[in-house]
Amino acid sequence: MKRSTNLTFVNLKSLPEKGEQYQFSQQNGELDEQLRDLIGSNNYYVSLEVRPVGNVFEISGEIRAEMDLICSHCGRELHHPVNDSFNELIVVTAKWTRAGHSGHVNSVKDHEITCNYATSFDFDLGDFVHEHIALAEPDHPLCARPDCDDVFNAANRTVKNPIDFNPLLRDNSSIKK
Ligand SMILES: [Zn+2]
Repeated sequence: MKRSTNLTFVNLKSLPEKGEQYQFSQQNGELDEQLRDLIGSNNYYVSLEVRPVGNVFEISGEIRAEMDLICSHCGRELHHPVNDSFNELIVVTAKWTRAGHSGHVNSVKDHEITCNYATSFDFDLGDFVHEHIALAEPDHPLCARPDCDDVFNAANRTVKNPIDFNPLLRDNSSIKK
C-alpha cells in the first residue's frame, strides 16, 4: 500500500540551484495523517524552502499549528499555538551510525545551527515538520487562565501532598496519606 506520506518526499539531488518552495496546509491535507498524533484535527500551515548549498542543503521556513494539550496545573484543556520559524541544514551521510533506521533523520544542534542528518537523498518533509512540532510541545503546559491556581487548589483540597498535574488523571494510590 502506498503511504500518503510519499507526497511529502523531496529528492534533494534533483533540486534546482535556486531551491524549491513547498507549502502544506490543512486545506490541502498533505500532512493530516502524519501530524494527527500531535495536533489532532487542528489547523496547520507549513511553508518550506529547500536549497542546495555546496554539499549540504539549507531548509528554512515556518510552521504554524495548534495543539490541544492539558494544563499540567489545573487539568483543563488548552490550545497551544506553535509558531516556529527556522533555518537549518540537511546533511546526507551514508555512514551515520547513530541513526536507527535507514533514511531516518537525526537532528543535532551545533553552534546554533541545527543539522538534520539523513541517510538518504529522499528527504521526508512531513517527518521534518512532525519533528519540529513534537519539539515545540511543552513538557508542562500551563493554561495561563487567571483561576488556574484556584482550580488546582480546589481539586487538591483533600490531598495532603498535592502534586502538580491534572488531579483527574492522577493515580491517587501512589500518594502518601
Ligand atoms: Zn491551568
